Amino acid sequence: QAKALGRNTYSYFNEKMNRDVSRRLELEQAIRGALQRQEFEVVYQVQVKVNSGEIIGAEALLRWYNPKLGQVSPVEFIPIAEQTGLIIDIGQFVLTQALSVLASWQQRHHRALKMSVNLSPRQFRDIKLVDMIEQALIQAGVAANCLELEITEGVLMSGHSYIKKTLSALSVLGIYLSMDDFGTGYSSLNYLRQYPFDVLKIDRSFVQGITTESTDRKLVNAAIAMAHGLNLTVVAEGVETQEQLHLLKSLNCDFAQGYLLGKPCRAKQLLVLELMPL
Ligand code: C2E
Ligand code: MG
Ligand code: MG
Ligand code: MG
Repeated sequence: QAKALGRNTYSYFNEKMNRDVSRRLELEQAIRGALQRQEFEVVYQVQVKVNSGEIIGAEALLRWYNPKLGQVSPVEFIPIAEQTGLIIDIGQFVLTQALSVLASWQQRHHRALKMSVNLSPRQFRDIKLVDMIEQALIQAGVAANCLELEITEGVLMSGHSYIKKTLSALSVLGIYLSMDDFGTGYSSLNYLRQYPFDVLKIDRSFVQGITTESTDRKLVNAAIAMAHGLNLTVVAEGVETQEQLHLLKSLNCDFAQGYLLGKPCRAKQLLVLELMPL
């Protein structure tokens, strides 16, 4: 009995492992050349001021549609793009697209709207990163202080000295640095102490619980107070209900982002968005 169960358990994991490996290989093959085949698109999710509802900018989010695989989530393909090094070219594509859309968006509304772009760990090992970003800003004709780069702890974990140099160089250019998914990592506080961050993005998992879990509410309250004490502004991620937004307002949160305020949309729709409060 036990033996049979053991064997079944073994083959269950074995099958699952095989499935995972072949899915990975399939994705890896498909993602090579996806850029050339123009299968990527950047979508945009607005960020608003909590106390007025005014739109202040947007976050660029990458989408991949492959004819054979369909829509693949960035949560699945970004790690593969990382490991294969393809993220260097893909990341440049996202930045170039996002800045060109930002330039049009600003011109249309005559306002210094902002754009947030996610950076992944591998991009930090590229010695040309700072140059590439500087060139992209010049080419788009966008001021450095309208660009914000979102960094998760994964970037910082390796602790190499070039990370500090790179972040400082970006900061000196006037680019804003934001710590993404705050609260989910291992040593966010240590990173806040070491690196020149300007913005704290509170992870969706905390925001989701603020109206129902008093612990989540207290943690978010403390995170906001701490951020303000360090002269950082705070963005709440994943705001889905009016109650959450209302509570964030009472906690002095600066900015919010989430399905309540706008789902990620295509560039064309972003450009014609009504910027006035909802
Ligand atoms: P992230 O940077 O934390 O982005 C926020 C994610 O939450 C996005 O998922 C967004 O669509 C989703 N979201 C926004 N509002 C809500 C909400 O109200 N409710 C819920 N349930 N979800 C919401 P997405 O687009 O699937 O991206 C997932 C992650 O993939 C991103 O997390 C980011 O880490 C990564 N990613 C996306 N685009 C890029 C990129 O261009 N470069 C890099 N390096 N990473 C990217
Ligand atoms: Mg982000
Ligand atoms: Mg995030
Ligand atoms: Mg998140």
